[in-house]
Amino acid sequence: MSLKISFEFFPPKTVEAEAGLWRAVAALAPLGPRFVSVTYGAGGSTRERTHATVERMRRETMLEPAAHLTCVGASRADIDDVARRYWQAGIRHVVALRGDPPAGAGSYQPHPDGYAGAADLVAGLARIADFELSVGAYPETHPEAASAEADLAHLKKKLDAGATRAITQFFFDPAHYLRFRDRARAAGITAPIVPGILPIANFTQVKRFAAQCGASIPAAMEQRFAGFGDDPAIGADLAAELCLALKAEGIDEFHFYTLNRAELVAAICQRIQVT
Ligand SMILES: Cc1cc2nc3c(=O)[nH]c(=O)nc-3n(C[C@H](O)[C@H](O)[C@H](O)COP(=O)(O)OP(=O)(O)OC[C@H]3O[C@@H](n4cnc5c(N)ncnc54)[C@H](O)[C@@H]3O)c2cc1C
Repeated sequence: MSLKISFEFFPPKTVEAEAGLWRAVAALAPLGPRFVSVTYGAGGSTRERTHATVERMRRETMLEPAAHLTCVGASRADIDDVARRYWQAGIRHVVALRGDPPAGAGSYQPHPDGYAGAADLVAGLARIADFELSVGAYPETHPEAASAEADLAHLKKKLDAGATRAITQFFFDPAHYLRFRDRARAAGITAPIVPGILPIANFTQVKRFAAQCGASIPAAMEQRFAGFGDDPAIGADLAAELCLALKAEGIDEFHFYTLNRAELVAAICQRIQVT
């Protein structure tokens, strides 16, 4: 089975981090990703850096860049401007997200003149240009969802509004993804639901991320790291095992959260035979 892959990067803050990003991009490009996406910092904080990064990818590489865009803290007019700039720069794929409220701000409140959430943003982007649109999905249910069913209905709304692909939040137990995919299919969702894979380079940090976004840490994973600190070989083994378990169930597409580092992702792709 030939595998399709995509990579997610974040826009760097410093000159050194910038060099690291482009080294990672160069190292991973030969693996032939379908697209490479660039995140949008909380509350639009990386607006210019995200733009500069996707634009440079478009200009200087053969890769297909996808720009993330969120609704937080911005009016529709502002977001529409960002989207038009992406289009003018030759960016044809947007990962459309609601975003999270700033730390300590409590529950999500849309900007008074803003998009209400990701479904509304998808509809708005589809009106602006013929973007390819991807959206987020949550195998373990979004922490703010009223129920797993409501979360799935919301995903369907985003796809019905014009998105053609869902990319999942990271998860570590293949059963979570497989159950979610089966429930999505039963709910009439036919779009690809691409598993988001987070290779673990720093287990302590990943546990913090996971607690924030509602992803569970299997006890077996705790045991694998116990006594070994942050051994990256364990992170590579675990991610490769996760991908292989999904591949055995017929999954042929993976989206890797690279955290701008190539080594772990390259090792995993080699193990799962991406070529
Ligand atoms: C692949 C991926 C990439 C991401 N990239 C970024 C990024 O670049 N920058 C960033 O800041 N964040 C990013 N995030 C995080 C994301 O912004 C958060 O998870 C956020 O809390 C939800 O965004 P969403 O687009 O899924 O929201 P939405 O789908 O709009 O809503 C989130 C959840 O709230 C509930 N909900 C919302 N509105 C309704 C409604 N009207 N009716 C019923 N239920 C509702 C649903 O359960 C829904 O799943 C990413 C997440 C994923 C999965």
